[in-house]
Amino acid sequence: MPITVIGSSELGEEIPMITIGSGKKKFLVWSQMHGNESTTTKALLDFLKLIAQQQQESTAIEAFLKTHTVKIIPILNPDGARAYTRVNANGVDLNRDAQLCSQKESKALREVFDAFQPDLCLNMHDQRTIYGLPSGKSATVSFLSPSADASRGLTKAREVAMLDIAKMANVLATVIPGQIGKYDDGFNLNCVGDTFTHLGVPTILFEAGHYPGDYSREITRSYIYRALLVVFTIEEVANIFKVGDYLQLPENEKSFCDIVLKDVRLHDEEAPQDIAIQYIESLKDGKIDFQATLLELRTNLIGHTQIACNGDYVVLNNGNNVRLNESICKVYNKSKGIELLINI
Ligand SMILES: [Zn+2]
Repeated sequence: MPITVIGSSELGEEIPMITIGSGKKKFLVWSQMHGNESTTTKALLDFLKLIAQQQQESTAIEAFLKTHTVKIIPILNPDGARAYTRVNANGVDLNRDAQLCSQKESKALREVFDAFQPDLCLNMHDQRTIYGLPSGKSATVSFLSPSADASRGLTKAREVAMLDIAKMANVLATVIPGQIGKYDDGFNLNCVGDTFTHLGVPTILFEAGHYPGDYSREITRSYIYRALLVVFTIEEVANIFKVGDYLQLPENEKSFCDIVLKDVRLHDEEAPQDIAIQYIESLKDGKIDFQATLLELRTNLIGHTQIACNGDYVVLNNGNNVRLNESICKVYNKSKGIELLINI
């Protein structure tokens, strides 16, 4: 598998790209343009491992490599990946830099796109744990065929992306029913997917999301891998899908938080209320730290974890004057005399 360097990051780190196959159909894939979104990168590496190990044995892989040329940029934003940030070293969100191309990483991607002229692009991300679906379940995998212009109309490029998404969603629905969603297609030409779709190239946004209890996203990683096998035609799926199948996918909604303390009393003579707690991720001593923070009170959010308190008095940290967005290190159920575990 040839590896080339397509440019360097703002801090001078090389950005490698792997090419597989030698066929006519050209796919361009990039992951981690948001540095702290590595689930799809891991799934891509799983896919490359499969190719490396089984290209001699599998006729499906052999056929795929003969008919496709796929260029994969595993980490477009290495500086953000090292710092575990969404943005690059200059604080720029590369997925809002598609028009300006003000950053070296954006330029590198655009140069590959212009030179390679792909038939399909895969734009790979992680989404936060806040997204849920009308099924009441979390959005474990979400997709989008971005709009080509402000009218959000159907174009040939969008149609191609929609049919591929419908195919992947159909397969995933057999293992995670009710957990596959789509993003809203509000048009923003500063986003890379919107720009490439505007230029007539089908582009699929992948969003790896939360699976219950799976904060390391190892389970979601396996679903993204499965979706890759489908879109790369290694897992054979009948071509029976229509645009309507894509349109019927439910839209992501912001319906979840990480923990809900149900029916809690914080102060005397106060009616019980719910407390929503959300983890903020950051890098601490080289590891990802999940810090619980107070999101809101009196909420309708569903918690990935729900702790029933049945009107008990609860103390947050050392008192109940915790402000919104402040860290919560300890939750003590004063009525029962026990500490509630909120850490991962
Ligand atoms: Zn992202």
